[in-house]
Amino acid sequence: MNSIKGLVSRIERFSIHDGTGIRTLVVMKGCPLKCRWCSAPYTQQTTTQILHIKSCCNHCGQCITACPEQAVHRLDEGTGIQTDRCVCTGCGNCVDSCPEQAREVSGQYYTPEEMFEQVQKYAVFYRRSNGGITVGGGEPLLQSEFLKEFLSLCQSHFIHTAIETTAFAPWEKIAPLLKHLEMIFVDLKQMNDKMHFQWTGVSNGRILENIRKISEKIPLVLRIPVIPGFNDSAQNISESAEFAKTLGNRFMGIELLPYHQLGIHTYEELDREYTLKNTIPPTDDHMAYLLNIMRSYGIEARIGG
Ligand code: SF4
Ligand code: SF4
Repeated sequence: MNSIKGLVSRIERFSIHDGTGIRTLVVMKGCPLKCRWCSAPYTQQTTTQILHIKSCCNHCGQCITACPEQAVHRLDEGTGIQTDRCVCTGCGNCVDSCPEQAREVSGQYYTPEEMFEQVQKYAVFYRRSNGGITVGGGEPLLQSEFLKEFLSLCQSHFIHTAIETTAFAPWEKIAPLLKHLEMIFVDLKQMNDKMHFQWTGVSNGRILENIRKISEKIPLVLRIPVIPGFNDSAQNISESAEFAKTLGNRFMGIELLPYHQLGIHTYEELDREYTLKNTIPPTDDHMAYLLNIMRSYGIEARIGG
């Protein structure tokens, strides 16, 4: 039995936005960045976590009784339920005890073989649609040993392989994976390093350097999540296009992904505050404006994934 295990947040079947054809998206846990707009905050942490869906909770208190760590409490006014996340071990007892399915675990360990079993059930759909599997996160490169073995298994069974990554990792972690990948998606978030650091917690230097190297090796698509007030200026899009023009011949193009608030409820489920709640998604006109700028540099670009 393989001793390597990967911590996976969830598996999304029949995805059509993460590469060619019909795909299975494997969402890994753990990320070295802390993007303010992150729509999947449950992927940031490298351990299992409990989501509490408050709209389903009837405050019965079964989870309080079930918790071996005394991590679940009633709020002072007696109307709500609170989970002490410093004490919670993610054991899942409270999930099993909840009569309303108001609690979920994010994070399950799989060996590469177990994960392959999960995705290969849908091989017929991949074959018919020119699809395959895409591993995203979080940051899949944080679990590079698991990733390498899983991708290698898929490849040996002729399943098309891709990853979505921040590319914030040492090149030594990325290079051995490339021969197991048919294509790669990398976020290009902001060309200004100071802004990049302020909004994601890390510098963009290593990311840009890795993008350059990858663009010489395997098909690469850059993705710009367009976040109002962060990177949606004409200047940033122009600088991104100028950078893209310098990339190697495996660079395929850029996808502009408009900011959305679809993940906002998961902050509440994790008892976290969402700091961009007053940010309004970019208009169609503004996205078209940015697309035109990108195309004016001769870059293959489109809106959406
Ligand atoms: S067991 Fe479920 S429904 Fe009952 S208080 Fe806990 S989360 Fe709410
Ligand atoms: S996952 Fe386990 S430790 Fe955490 S709150 Fe639920 S029962 Fe308690």
